[in-house]
Amino acid sequence: MNALLYLSEGKLEYKKIPVSDTPEADSIRLKVAYCGLCGTDMHIYRGQMDSRVTTPHVLGHEASGVVEAVGRNVNEISVGRRGVVMPLRPCGECPACEDGLSHICHRLKFIGIETPGALQEYWDVPAYSFLPIPETLSLKHAALIEPLAVACHDVRLGDVRAGQNVVVLGAGPIGLLIAMVAKHKGANVILSEISESRVQLAKKLGFDVVNPRTTDLIPYVNDKTNQVGADVVFEVTAHSSGAEVMTALPRCRGRIVVVGIFAEPVKVDLKRFFRRELQLCGARVYEREDFTQAIRLADAFPLDALITDVFDLPQAPEAFAYLAGANRAMKVLIRRDETIKE
Ligand SMILES: [Zn+2]
Ligand SMILES: [Zn+2]
Repeated sequence: MNALLYLSEGKLEYKKIPVSDTPEADSIRLKVAYCGLCGTDMHIYRGQMDSRVTTPHVLGHEASGVVEAVGRNVNEISVGRRGVVMPLRPCGECPACEDGLSHICHRLKFIGIETPGALQEYWDVPAYSFLPIPETLSLKHAALIEPLAVACHDVRLGDVRAGQNVVVLGAGPIGLLIAMVAKHKGANVILSEISESRVQLAKKLGFDVVNPRTTDLIPYVNDKTNQVGADVVFEVTAHSSGAEVMTALPRCRGRIVVVGIFAEPVKVDLKRFFRRELQLCGARVYEREDFTQAIRLADAFPLDALITDVFDLPQAPEAFAYLAGANRAMKVLIRRDETIKE
């Protein structure tokens, strides 16, 4: 079968690789339909995660597809079932796993990072990682279930409620999805984003968006909330400017959810936590209930608006080069081939 292989920094190759006759006993084989590219894939592509991947490495973890075959121990999943993959492989034995927090397992392995990913024609994954989708959900939209599950997790940990004021710092795919889920919960959402094309997209989707380079965000949020401040702030920029402003926005006892992955320690105004009795909460990936919620909610969201580009698998190297450059790409999907229906 054909696969996209990451070889080394900036080097990808689309080529034939061997495939076993059957999936392993506890695995299923997915005929991949669509796979989304995300920041993590770009980090791998740029050589920033070489310590975690074994080369040549098959990239991709945001996939939808149809079950092609099942291992001999798999009884509950039938061939032909459409679905998505929750790409986590917890160890099952560490303190986090024993506490029921296997998504933040101390030895968590990510399917598509530590193990081969979805940018190949057939993808063998553990049966437990497969979740079926309803007939009403297209395979194309289903490729956005993984990032939507991230957003569901973030909003759940943020404890967002109807009528609350929410600020989302960063309107990339995850920031926008958080905004959509929070709005669905009945919250009033303000987005902050410096990229003009992303500002325009968020506006088109009906959101209140501020470019903090041209509008002072803090007085803007204060004015919109009768000088109270935001109930929940989501930091999705992973940039020091986001960490700096996030503490200035919440109301008394308001909550900050850190979604962005900060590679380095950054400056945070801790005095603000004291003065306003703020709460800080981390949010990482998703739990199974977030995935099932994402599958349930997907039809309610304008997911099409997020998909800016679709490339076929043989053209995947071009998709990476395109995403690495400056452009107005939001979500880029890789389609297995032209026989795949939406
Ligand atoms: Zn991802
Ligand atoms: Zn564990």
